[in-house]
Amino acid sequence: MIQEQRFFVYYLTIRLQFNNLYNIMKRKTILRPLHIKGLSLHKGEYVELNIRPSEEGIVFIREGTRIPARPENVVDTRLSTTLGKGKVCISTVEHLMSALYGLGITDCEIEIKGEELPSMDGSALPFIKQLQQVGIKYLGQDISPIPIKSPIIAGDSNSSVEIHPGLFSLSYKIAFEEPAIGSQEYVFEGNNYIEEIAPARTFGRLCDVEMMRAQGLAIGGGLHNAVLVDREDILNPEGLRFKDEFVRHKVLDILGDLWLLGSPVEGEIRAVKANHRLHIELILKIKEIFCGI
Ligand SMILES: [Zn+2]
Repeated sequence: MIQEQRFFVYYLTIRLQFNNLYNIMKRKTILRPLHIKGLSLHKGEYVELNIRPSEEGIVFIREGTRIPARPENVVDTRLSTTLGKGKVCISTVEHLMSALYGLGITDCEIEIKGEELPSMDGSALPFIKQLQQVGIKYLGQDISPIPIKSPIIAGDSNSSVEIHPGLFSLSYKIAFEEPAIGSQEYVFEGNNYIEEIAPARTFGRLCDVEMMRAQGLAIGGGLHNAVLVDREDILNPEGLRFKDEFVRHKVLDILGDLWLLGSPVEGEIRAVKANHRLHIELILKIKEIFCGI
């Protein structure tokens, strides 16, 4: 009897692991083209996106230049993740990339009129909803996860992101002086992205926003597309979507950055006070070791 129970638990564990990976192990694109319009965060300009089905990975297109969504095409990570080729740049790709990860979409063309993606409400949820509305199509090919065989580390003892051999899991820790944020930790094991991660909005400190505005940045930013914090106060009248919305947004960001690899990674990811620069540093190391760029 005990033997049978053990076998059942083992069987269930394997099934669950298989099911988790199954959704993102088949190549997928969208069923019909999708048009999205919105305001960009930094320039405060209206931007248009045309997302089309394709079978050549995720490719951004601007002014006729095609920029595959790959880590080697990242040209700036200071405020967001920016892709570029020659003189053409497309910034703040991470929230749409995260939505594509959440739906397991591996292939589509994203044509943009503008230089920065629309900020929507500061989260990945509006992208998710619109992508779900046009539908998802299986392409019939498998994608293999990237198996991590030895630890890979980016950063130092203060802020870092590392990946270790094991099944997929992601833990993220942040620590801010602002009492409204404080120290938070979130562990994501690959389930319930749409409910638990996609709605988490980007955030900023009032003092940083004032400084950025003086430099002509964050012009389109406000309480409609970010959580704003002033010391112990949350300035948004509606409050937070989750008590730990800040760290959940960091999980959203790193999942978007990781999706630049084009395949899921199979390993334990641990991030401590990390940022886009460290995410991309780790991802480039993974690609160099396992894909030989
Ligand atoms: Zn973000």
